[in-house]
Amino acid sequence: MKYDVIIIGGGPAGLSAAIYSARGGLKTALFEKGMIGGQITVTDEVENYPGFEEPLSGFELTAKMQAQAERFGVEIKEEEITALGMEGLCKVIETDSGKYRAKSVIICTGAHPRRLNVPGEERLTGRGVSYCATCDGALYRDKVVAVVGGGDSAIEEGIFLTRFAKKVYVIHRRDELRAQKIIQERAFRNPKMEFIWHTVIQEIHGDTRVSELELVNRQTKEISMLPVDGVFIYVGILPNNELLESRIELDSAGFVLTDEYMHTNVPGVYAAGDIRHTVLRQVVTATSDGAIAAWSAEKWIIENYDSFEVESAKQ
Ligand SMILES: Cc1cc2nc3c(=O)[nH]c(=O)nc-3n(C[C@H](O)[C@H](O)[C@H](O)COP(=O)(O)OP(=O)(O)OC[C@H]3O[C@@H](n4cnc5c(N)ncnc54)[C@H](O)[C@@H]3O)c2cc1C
Repeated sequence: MKYDVIIIGGGPAGLSAAIYSARGGLKTALFEKGMIGGQITVTDEVENYPGFEEPLSGFELTAKMQAQAERFGVEIKEEEITALGMEGLCKVIETDSGKYRAKSVIICTGAHPRRLNVPGEERLTGRGVSYCATCDGALYRDKVVAVVGGGDSAIEEGIFLTRFAKKVYVIHRRDELRAQKIIQERAFRNPKMEFIWHTVIQEIHGDTRVSELELVNRQTKEISMLPVDGVFIYVGILPNNELLESRIELDSAGFVLTDEYMHTNVPGVYAAGDIRHTVLRQVVTATSDGAIAAWSAEKWIIENYDSFEVESAKQ
């Protein structure tokens, strides 16, 4: 089966790319291996996506994007892409059900936060366990929260949380932070922040929402309970890049390098959203990337019209 554009991943970036591509008259297929909507579907309240004055769930938001994409004729396939051939002018995509060809591919495979993998974490995600202060911070006005981690993201997001929360504990496994000195100094000066050193979370407790953290001091082995309303985990974000063979250029953390047109280093292959090397990973930036990537793909197909005609005459 041949498409103009194949989109890998059905999160906000992929859905936005699909809307722009199909609305532009391109025969478009979107492949999603899990749940349409991506990471945001686990969030109960999205408050920062423009156009909705009242919060809505990530599931509702992306269901609207999916309906919009389908209105323009996008074929949504619930299949995992297992291989991506990028050698020729046309790209070849493989799933367990077969092979598909496309003139252009947009990689929107996203990312996922590194988990602590402690009891309670998965069950209470979206119910006090969060991986995104930019997303959920405003829900913790006058509450007590903890941040886990010692890098730039953990400390910057901890400082950000002090705008809302009355108290922000920073739980760190060592006795010094990895964050830049200037950020550290800002955090140490902040009266709402308190540091708990040499400590890791052993379990997250709570019936329907997070209520307390079970901590263990790595030096003394002492166990203690810390009552909190929320815990923000910043121990890294991992790209979903298993599919990308060595031909796609990645940064040192494994995110795809693109230019401002979302071009990767492979002609006709674009990347959008959280999988990209970028400064902000949010729904609004993912949808923006997706729109640009679809626009670039369309331009690429038009510019290479004659070559595609020659190639299809050969088949
Ligand atoms: C808990 C949490 C709360 C958040 N809250 C907010 C918020 O309030 N506001 C906000 O703006 N942002 C929020 N974010 C960030 C936001 O979810 C992401 O920035 C956004 O989802 C990125 O979209 P994406 O399409 O690039 O990637 P993703 O949402 O990660 O989607 C990628 C999709 O690709 C699929 N996929 C991967 N590999 C393959 C393959 N080989 N074949 C087929 N499909 C594949 C995955 O299954 C996934 O569905 C939150 C993130 C988390 C984790």
